Amino acid sequence: MSMNCSFCEKSIPVGRGLISVKSDGAISYYCTSKCERNAKIRMAKKVKWTALYRKRKSERLAKTNKKS
Ligand SMILES: [Zn+2]
Repeated sequence: MSMNCSFCEKSIPVGRGLISVKSDGAISYYCTSKCERNAKIRMAKKVKWTALYRKRKSERLAKTNKKS
């Protein structure tokens, strides 16, 4: 079973990465401490190296192309 990073959405090899459990019981998986750190202070959609950001960027580009 492999997991994806909750922040950058990269797949995490089994036995690697970090698991973070919040007090409300929500579990997050992070590929590196970099992702864990960034998840606490930033929104994934605003960080350029996450899959979510790239996804949103391509959505934005698609919209601008339709307009022009
Ligand atoms: Zn990550």
